[in-house]
Amino acid sequence: MKHNRILVIGCGRLGSNIAIYLSNQGKDVTVLDKDERAFNKINDTFNGSTLLGDATDLEYLQNIENLDNLKEVVIVTENDNTNIFLADYFALVLDIPNIVVRITDVEKGQLIEHMGIKILYPFKSTFDEFIAYEDRSNI
Ligand code: AMP
Repeated sequence: MKHNRILVIGCGRLGSNIAIYLSNQGKDVTVLDKDERAFNKINDTFNGSTLLGDATDLEYLQNIENLDNLKEVVIVTENDNTNIFLADYFALVLDIPNIVVRITDVEKGQLIEHMGIKILYPFKSTFDEFIAYEDRSNI
């Protein structure tokens, strides 16, 4: 049976907003974080489910129900190495069709760019926004 669940890994500033947005869109969202306090950011507005655990613990990860049948996984912990490791795992081992991952270091991101993974580069996006602002404002 095909599942429509989306897993968001990391319920920080970005992950909590993504989880709330997707859940408000009517999507079936599960958000995972290793720190229980992270879920305080979503309690009021979030309709999905939460999982408390360390995503780098493969034994824990493999015991998540229907893990290989996710529609999408959004990997947004603050750690590039963790995010790259998880992106590899979900792409190569579980063959999840849609993977979005946050990477700060553009050079590290290039390691997985060829795999059809959507990469969010916060530093690059902010820098591009700065350049656009400078160009517009003629300071
Ligand atoms: P932020 O830096 O505000 O976007 O927060 C990142 C979130 O990712 C925090 O809530 C962390 O607890 C969470 N996080 C970091 N590493 C892991 C991990 N290995 N497994 C699950 N959650 C994690």
